[in-house]
Amino acid sequence: MLFNEIVFGPIHSRRLGISLGINLLPTESKLCNFNCIYCECGWNIKAGKKKFNSRDEIRKHLELKLKLMRDENKCPDSITFSGNGEPTMHPEFAEIADDVIMLRNEYAPAAKISVLSNATMIANEKVTAALLKIDNAILKLDSGISETAILINKPQFTFSVDRIIENMQNFKKQMVLQTMFLRGICDGKKIDNTTEIEISAWLDAVKKIDPREIMIYTIDRKTPADSLQKISFDELDRIAELARKSGYKVMAAK
Ligand code: SF4
Repeated sequence: MLFNEIVFGPIHSRRLGISLGINLLPTESKLCNFNCIYCECGWNIKAGKKKFNSRDEIRKHLELKLKLMRDENKCPDSITFSGNGEPTMHPEFAEIADDVIMLRNEYAPAAKISVLSNATMIANEKVTAALLKIDNAILKLDSGISETAILINKPQFTFSVDRIIENMQNFKKQMVLQTMFLRGICDGKKIDNTTEIEISAWLDAVKKIDPREIMIYTIDRKTPADSLQKISFDELDRIAELARKSGYKVMAAK
């Protein structure tokens, strides 16, 4: 499923309420430095466009839509950077975040600004500084074990969970951690990030990162890898309970 607009929705999000989406990535194809086996945008394709939407276009489209929503008295709960890939890969992500804050303040002051990100660009200080300005920096960590994260997220570069955890520690409670729990088989390899070893490594990572909040969820739509299974809500809730016992606020999405 691709988003063929720069500003899309609003849609009802399990986690964010009425959410107006902003897509910084191409509208015709996905652009991401991960290739997650559960990605709702499908697999990365070699012929995919590498062009980002311009800052100017994004600002114009967002202003038009927010003005309309304000006039109809239907302001969103969240203005959310998501779309066809990883928003923080946009070279002007920080400047665009400033534009969005300004437009939110003018047209929908009660709306939160959220970014759904795979956290791969947070080694870049400018990206981290921009994420720290917005309300909800929702950063992905699907396993506390690099080998498992590589199987789930298929990063397109040298990747280490330890490095991501280290960079997440710079957020000092100003980030939301998001984790997808699932099991299945992909490329002939068994994947399950709900085993005892996995949950124990994930809880260790949670304690090191010390997020403001945690969002955990499972598969909700068709996935590019077709042998994946969602986990039950009871299982999700059991994992949530373990993190709650360590003092964290956890939302398990039904
Ligand atoms: S990080 Fe997000 S956009 Fe990128 S492949 Fe994973 S789910 Fe898809």
